[in-house]
Amino acid sequence: LFSEQKKALNPIIPKDHEDTLFDKIVRKQIPANIVYEDDLVLAFRDISPQAPTHIVLIPKIRNGLINISAAEERHKEILGHLLIKAAEIAKKEKLDDGWRLVANNGVNACQSVYHLHFHIIGGRPLGWPPG
Ligand code: 5GP
Repeated sequence: LFSEQKKALNPIIPKDHEDTLFDKIVRKQIPANIVYEDDLVLAFRDISPQAPTHIVLIPKIRNGLINISAAEERHKEILGHLLIKAAEIAKKEKLDDGWRLVANNGVNACQSVYHLHFHIIGGRPLGWPPG
């Protein structure tokens, strides 16, 4: 846990041409349990699930979107697409009693991968406020 926390406190911000772990998952160079894929987005099960359902949803191409803080007008279409797909995935996962959509932004939020991603978390009652 300490090393994870430490990593998050020293963020590795990729340059536009540099890969993150998620680029390798998109290219299937790292295996992942994929739950949804189309031309623009990929959703896969988190390797370290924090709830019975924990899915990571990403744009396939980062295009400067290292997190929500980096969002600009030019990202409007992909951001809308991601939200609509999040809703569809939650429905398919039968998270009918409620679920959470989380985007960790930066150091204080413990963001560890600097390629925009939404966590789709559900399948149990979720506490509030989050840690
Ligand atoms: P963040 O902490 O940046 O908001 O979220 C990154 C997420 O990616 C974490 O929940 C972490 O468990 C997940 N993750 C890290 N490496 C892998 C991996 O190799 N495969 C999968 N499926 N998830 C990963």
